[in-house]
Amino acid sequence: MAVEPRPLNAEQLAFVAHVQAVAVKHRRWIGEHEELRALLQASVGPKGDPELVSYTDPRLQAELQTHRDVALWQGSDRRFRLISLQSPKSVAAAVIHAENDPGPDTCRFCLINEARTPLELEMVKDGAGSPINNVKVHPRCRLAWRRVERIAMQNPAFAKSRTPQR
Ligand SMILES: [Zn+2]
Repeated sequence: MAVEPRPLNAEQLAFVAHVQAVAVKHRRWIGEHEELRALLQASVGPKGDPELVSYTDPRLQAELQTHRDVALWQGSDRRFRLISLQSPKSVAAAVIHAENDPGPDTCRFCLINEARTPLELEMVKDGAGSPINNVKVHPRCRLAWRRVERIAMQNPAFAKSRTPQR
């Protein structure tokens, strides 16, 4: 079992649910600290604390990523990224998502453009561990992207298109 000296308490977990709700509502969001506070303030209400847990608190980020299918982090440009990691609801939606090529400066999963901060993205690797040209994701979107591809593979035509032709 992981050792966590001070796990999030019930009040903090209730706040985490607000962060999750904002992520699900916006699906992907990028912006400044104050903008994120404003989004959370709208969710928690005028009397609530929009930053009951610091957005950079590793416990918050771990709870979101592990139990809520949400990624939250501050990038190298100091802007925050808040992303819902939920899988597509259907195979058809997954195929559309997987076939969408937003270009090399954009995360394949969440579609946030990182042209100004390319180090936020990493190359996606194929089954053999080789990087796939121009397919990049945020490290925190990597597993969600794999899920999209796995769901899309249930579509025979898509699966065939991804099988190397010999
Ligand atoms: Zn992403």
